[in-house]
Amino acid sequence: MDRYQSFAKSGFGRLVVGKLGLPNPYPLRRHTPGKPALDGPVLLGGSGRLVEPVAAVCKSIGLDVAAEAREDERYAALVFDATGIDSTEKLRELYEFFHPVIRSLAPCSRVVVLGTPPAQAASQVAQRALEGFVRSVGKELKRGGTAQLVYVAEGAEGNIESTLRFLLSGRSAYVSGQVVRIGTGPVEVPDDWEKPLAGKVALVTGASRGIGAAIARVLGRDGAHVVCLDMPGQGDELSAVANEVGGSTLQLDITASDAPKRIVEHVTQRHGGVDIVVHNAGITRDRTLGRMDAGRWNAVLEVNLASQERVNQALFDSGALRPNGRIIGVSSIAGIAGNVGQTNYATTKAGVIGMVDSLSATVAGTGATVNAVAPGFIETKMTAAVPLVIREAGRRMNSLSQGGLPVDVAETIAWFAHPASSGVNGNVVRVCGQSLLGA
Ligand code: NAD
Repeated sequence: MDRYQSFAKSGFGRLVVGKLGLPNPYPLRRHTPGKPALDGPVLLGGSGRLVEPVAAVCKSIGLDVAAEAREDERYAALVFDATGIDSTEKLRELYEFFHPVIRSLAPCSRVVVLGTPPAQAASQVAQRALEGFVRSVGKELKRGGTAQLVYVAEGAEGNIESTLRFLLSGRSAYVSGQVVRIGTGPVEVPDDWEKPLAGKVALVTGASRGIGAAIARVLGRDGAHVVCLDMPGQGDELSAVANEVGGSTLQLDITASDAPKRIVEHVTQRHGGVDIVVHNAGITRDRTLGRMDAGRWNAVLEVNLASQERVNQALFDSGALRPNGRIIGVSSIAGIAGNVGQTNYATTKAGVIGMVDSLSATVAGTGATVNAVAPGFIETKMTAAVPLVIREAGRRMNSLSQGGLPVDVAETIAWFAHPASSGVNGNVVRVCGQSLLGA
């Protein structure tokens, strides 16, 4: 909990926050292995092709599902199948379902609306309209609640489980106001949903600290052998992370000309290939454009984008990325909204989105996927170095009024990495608490 959050929870703080209408951050409920996914029942509404598959998934997660609102019940999640909405008039069903219950949700509640991709729908207008509804609900929810829209392609009804398990749990604590697209793809159902990555090999770049270390921990927790990669100078910290997660280390600079070759050799010789590649290593070298020397521009372009493209090319050319492989990029909301002093950084982070667009089309239908997260304000050394006023603004300017934690980014990556997420391809999901920037 940050200092403002502690203040806002104190007796005096509550009074001041209430009277002045200041942001009121609620402590987010995060995933704890062995604990229930949600603290309460799910109310499931709507009348489309997904009602039955959603009910089946909720039951397999162990959630209590109600089809009719019960008096005085505090629901932990409201799930609405909007695939049956085939005209603008029928959008009224959203109002009829949500209006009576939206004010009596449990803390850290979940709202999930499922639709048909507008281009495939009987009413493109009505399905596109769902976005505005969900994003507004996300802004209205209090006490750590989140809202998402999931467009499920025709024929992808069997591909929703990993996504619902992510969205209907504390794993998605800092993800809100997002639109996720699920397509068809061969679903690899894990033997154990608590260890879905058992037998998989994951490579995480920049794994010695911050978000990269959290990614290594979460992928390790989920059963993967994690190859932790970082700069040679980061050896001690890197070994500590690798030991903690039962993984191994690979010390190299990803911008080195022989880096792609060394990565391919390492994963093929030691593990027979790699299943999951997370391009997390990234740097900032901020200056406004007129004051930026070429060195700053080049360094950021090399680490955050060009080197990743070379590694991807080498992985594809060598066949080192195994079938149903996962490539996961780390973009940023700066790549979506732009940011003063970050023309170099934002160029690369928008480029990562371009990488997702281009490679996801290449791998479509093969079972492999390419996706990215776009973090907002995450509490790390990188953001601790930001001047206080800008830092406070970044922390509060989102629907959850707080910064996210590295684990929030890591959980989102673990959902992409999941063997049952083959239908989740070409998505860029923001982990930003529904930041006002670039919204
Ligand atoms: P960090 O600086 O704490 O960690 C980055 C890691 O990458 C370091 O361990 C560093 O040694 C490694 N690295 C840098 N250059 C490398 C190279 N050439 N070869 C190998 N390793 C290299 O940063 P972080 O805050 O944990 O950020 C991780 C990623 O998340 C970055 O891509 C960053 O742009 C992105 N991101 C962070 C935030 C945030 O709020 N912290 C927000 C949006 C996006």
